[in-house]
Amino acid sequence: MSEQNSAATAASSAFAQLSLQPALLDNLQSLEYREMTPIQAQSLPAVLAGKDVLAQAKTGSGKTAAFALGLLQKLDVKSLAVQGLVLCPTRELADQVAGEIRRLARLIPNVKVLTLCGGMPINPQFGSLEQGAHIVVGTPGRVQKHLDKESLSLDSLKIWVLDEADRMLDMGFADAMRDIAKVCPRQRQTLLFSATYPQDIQQLSAEFQRDPLSVRVESTHSAHQIEQRFFELPNQEAKFPALIKLLQHYQPRSAVIFCNMKQQTQLVADQLKAKGYSALALHGDLEQRERDQVVVRFANQSCSVLVATDVAARGLDIKELQAVVNYDITPDPEVHVHRIGRTGRAGQTGLALTLTTATQGSRVVAVEDYQQSRAVWGDLDALKKNPDNMKPDMVTLCIDGGRKSKVRPGDILGALTKEAGFNGQHIGKINIAELHAYVAVHHSIANKAYSYLQDGKIKGRKVKVRKLV
Ligand code: ADP
Ligand code: MG
Repeated sequence: MSEQNSAATAASSAFAQLSLQPALLDNLQSLEYREMTPIQAQSLPAVLAGKDVLAQAKTGSGKTAAFALGLLQKLDVKSLAVQGLVLCPTRELADQVAGEIRRLARLIPNVKVLTLCGGMPINPQFGSLEQGAHIVVGTPGRVQKHLDKESLSLDSLKIWVLDEADRMLDMGFADAMRDIAKVCPRQRQTLLFSATYPQDIQQLSAEFQRDPLSVRVESTHSAHQIEQRFFELPNQEAKFPALIKLLQHYQPRSAVIFCNMKQQTQLVADQLKAKGYSALALHGDLEQRERDQVVVRFANQSCSVLVATDVAARGLDIKELQAVVNYDITPDPEVHVHRIGRTGRAGQTGLALTLTTATQGSRVVAVEDYQQSRAVWGDLDALKKNPDNMKPDMVTLCIDGGRKSKVRPGDILGALTKEAGFNGQHIGKINIAELHAYVAVHHSIANKAYSYLQDGKIKGRKVKVRKLV
C-alpha cells in the first residue's frame, strides 16, 4: 500500500469524521480508541443516520461500541425514560455490554444504564426501574417478565438492539424476543448483531427490521494469526516447570491458562503467585462477587495471568490477550479451537501454547484432524530465560460504594482527575458493581491515588478504599 493510500484509509476510519457529540469523541480519545474497527466503520454511519442495521463480525471486533455510540448519541438525558434496550444472551455478557456503555458515556453526565438479568433477585430491579433508566441491558427472559409485570415500559424506546442474536437463538430465546418485539414501538431503530450468520438470523431480521443495511466483516481468523506450539512432557509433574519456562520465554503481557479441572486452576494460580506472578483463578466454585472481582482485575490489566476452566471462562471478553496456554489439552478439538481463538484478535498475532503428556497423543491427533493441519512441536530446552516482565501495568483500587449508593464512573474519574489532579491517562477502566467500585490506576500512581481516595471524598462522602493484591 502506498503512503498516500494508508493515510487515506486511516482518515476514513477516524471517529472524528462521525457527527458524534464532543463528550463522546473526547472520551473515545481518553479510552485510546483511535480508529474505528472495520465493523464500526461499516455500521456506525448507518446507525447514526437512524437506519436498521444487521451486522455480522467475529467476537472481539468491537460490535458493542457500534451500537452503544448510536444509543448514546441519540439519548435525551433530560427525559428519564427507557430509550434504548439491549438484549444479550447471558448475564455475563449483559454486564460487559452495560459496562462498555457506561464507559463510553462517562463524560455525559447522568446517563443511567440498568441491567435486568435472570438469576438475579427481581425485587431490587423493580426499585431500580421505578427510579428510572435511559438504557436497559438485559436477558430476554427477565426483560419479558418485567414487561409482563408492567414494571418496564418501552413506550419511549428509540433503539432496540439484539446483541449476539445467534447465541440468543441457540439458547431458545426466539419466542421471548418475539414477545418483546410486540411491545416495542413500531417507530424504532432495530440493530441486530451476530458473530455468525445462520439462516434463522436472516429470518429474525426479516421479522424485526425494516429495510436493514446488511454489513459483514469477513472472519480474518485464520491459522497464521495464531502461532500455535505443542510441547510434550514426560509426565504431569513436568507441567508446572514447563509453564514457567513458557512464561519466561514468551513473556505475554496477559495470558489465560486453561485447565480441565477446577481444583487444578486454584493450584496452578497459587503456585504462580508463589513464584511472584500476578495470577488469579477463575472457576465455578467462586462466589459471584469473587468471580466479578477476578474478571474485573484481569480485564483492567491489573492481573496478568488468569487460570480458568472452560465453563468459567465462557463469555469472558478480554482485549489484547497475548497468549493462551493449555495447561491441560482438552479431549474436545472444538473446545481447543474455541480456547485458542481468544488470542490473536484485532489483527495482532496471538500465541497458543499447549502442554501434553505422552499418553495424550490421541488428543493432539483430534486437534490436527479438526484443524486440518499438522501440530507444530516446540522444544522446551531451546527456550530462553528472559528476565521477568509480566508485572501488570495497573493496580485495582476497590472502593466501598457502588451502584446502590449511586456512585458513577464519572464521580471517580472526576475525583481523581479534576480534584486530585491525576492525569487521565493513568486512570484505566472503572467498573461499578452493586456495592463496590473498581478503578484501575497505573502502578506509578497507585499509592498516591490510594491515599488520596482514603482521605478524600467521593460524591461528598468519605469512602473506604482497598488495594486488591
Ligand atoms: P464484540 O462484541 O464484537 O465481540 P466488543 O465490542 O466486546 O467486541 O469489543 C472488543 C474489545 O475491543 C473491547 O475491549 C473494546 O473495548 C475494544 N474496542 C472496541 N472498539 C475499539 C476501537 N475502535 N479501538 C480500540 N479498542 C476498541
Ligand atoms: Mg459483543
